[in-house]
Amino acid sequence: MAKKQFKTESKKLLDMMVNSIYTHKEIFLRELISNASDAIDKLYFRSLTDDSVGMDHDDFEIRLTADKDSRILTVTDNGIGMTKEELENNLGTIAKSGSLDFKTDEENQSENIDIIGQFGVGFYSAFMVADNIKVESKAFGSDEAFVWESSGADGYTIKKCEKDKAGTVITLHIKEDTEEEKYGEFLEVYRIRELIKKYSDYIRYPIRMETSHKQLKEGTENEYEDIYEDETLNSMTPIWKKPQSKVTDEEYAEYYKGKFNDYEAPLKVIRQSTEGNATYTALLFIPSHAPYDYYSRDYEKGLQLYSSSVMIMEKCKDLLPDHFSFVKGLVDSADLSLNISREMLQHDRQLKIIAKALEKKIASELGKMLKTDREKYEQFFREFGAQLKWGIYSSFGVNREELQDLLLFKTSDEGRYTSLKEYIDRARENQDKIYYAVGETVEKIAMLPQVESVLAKGYEVLYLTEDIDEFCVQILRNYDNKDFLNVCTDNLDLGDEEEKAQLKEENDKSEELFKFMKESIGDKVAKVRYTNTLKNHAVCLSSEGNVSVGMEQILNKMPGT
Ligand code: ADP
Ligand code: MG
Repeated sequence: MAKKQFKTESKKLLDMMVNSIYTHKEIFLRELISNASDAIDKLYFRSLTDDSVGMDHDDFEIRLTADKDSRILTVTDNGIGMTKEELENNLGTIAKSGSLDFKTDEENQSENIDIIGQFGVGFYSAFMVADNIKVESKAFGSDEAFVWESSGADGYTIKKCEKDKAGTVITLHIKEDTEEEKYGEFLEVYRIRELIKKYSDYIRYPIRMETSHKQLKEGTENEYEDIYEDETLNSMTPIWKKPQSKVTDEEYAEYYKGKFNDYEAPLKVIRQSTEGNATYTALLFIPSHAPYDYYSRDYEKGLQLYSSSVMIMEKCKDLLPDHFSFVKGLVDSADLSLNISREMLQHDRQLKIIAKALEKKIASELGKMLKTDREKYEQFFREFGAQLKWGIYSSFGVNREELQDLLLFKTSDEGRYTSLKEYIDRARENQDKIYYAVGETVEKIAMLPQVESVLAKGYEVLYLTEDIDEFCVQILRNYDNKDFLNVCTDNLDLGDEEEKAQLKEENDKSEELFKFMKESIGDKVAKVRYTNTLKNHAVCLSSEGNVSVGMEQILNKMPGT
């Protein structure tokens, strides 16, 4: 039988895909398993209304074999299978997806089935690791079976073959290893186990493989024998699909530690399931400490993205705003429109809706923690608070409403943390400013002469000790209609009218002296004058306008200023 050519656009696509779309070769296994799972879903779905299927949920399985000598890897399912036409249409034309047709079919519309595959490219990813692929398949209800075979872009053949039951066997001849690439790893049990755990752990049908381990022979002391057993490689139920009441904190913590490489349990677990605008389940974790690289350029934010329990992206950046970049976790949604490459599904409308909802949820959970578990919140804030402040600074206040009530600042009230709302609640009657001072430590700020005098008048002062603090209040400008005011700027207006008149008089009297002082000090100061802000100190430095002495120091530290 003559070899058939792939449709021309398929040929180009195949080349393109094998070489560029998928950046990780290992995902081929995920794709084949997703297809097997889809095929089983279809037959299982059928079995619900068609007794002739004669199978229960427990009868379905995906089976793997790997043989290093022959370099053969097989993936077998007892799903719906393919007819000759389907083999031709589904595997002969890239981007023609049988799963999509099935999904848009009127009859199946109302049913709640989720099928991963929506674009006909997944199967071809197997050509990244295999130089020959055979697909033997028997469609459910048919009494003929066919085998499709291809060695890549040069075409494929379809022949009749023998096959007992409905389903599909995919046989890959794994490419020979070269200097640069080791394909043989895909034939190693440990590697296969690893890949299933990573990408397909939550496939709802068992993925089984016969594996062996050595065991001491009974009655001997040092003779070992190979014990073969059927191992199920996947755990099948996603932790986020279990009823929330059935999952303990411990289980969540173990899951988190295993998946996100943390040695400590998370500070908070957030779970959200919604239907409506976007149907998804999210399982989020707030770590109890910042990863070592958190405040470096190497840190990458993102959530894992699952489509119907199959991981399609490890770090989906678009799901998290920068100010919540510390959040770990995953989102599982059945109605994501899968892009041509699952690794590139940016700009998706559905994704944007989910991201917005998650942002809200995270903010509200943090707000709740602040109200109900102060100690925990402060622990959180010590680790990640600077990131929230950056959120206000870097987006110039767009996230202000959402973030401002989550902020904490050190305060003159025993150097504790305070929220802005708490500051306002304690403010004096008629106080229309939020006073702050900038310095390296709470102790140093407390010693500033200007601070002393404001405190003496009975006001509370925020102690801004972090570099970001001052930028943050500058962007905020005000809170609850009260402007932030640096106590070290000279427009501090605390005295009464009489005091002010007196001050002016004294300044006028000493004009000559101050002029002389200014001239002798030179450019280091802009002006010398009397002030009423001093209590126990003879002199102090202050700045005019919005840039404080502290901020000037930071700006001077930055390169290029
Ligand atoms: P997608 O899964 O996105 O539709 P694929 O390239 O992975 O695209 O697969 C193309 C089509 O081939 C599938 O839609 C399905 O109709 C068919 N197919 C692939 N693998 C199997 C299988 N194991 N059993 C039945 N049909 C399959
Ligand atoms: Mg697929």
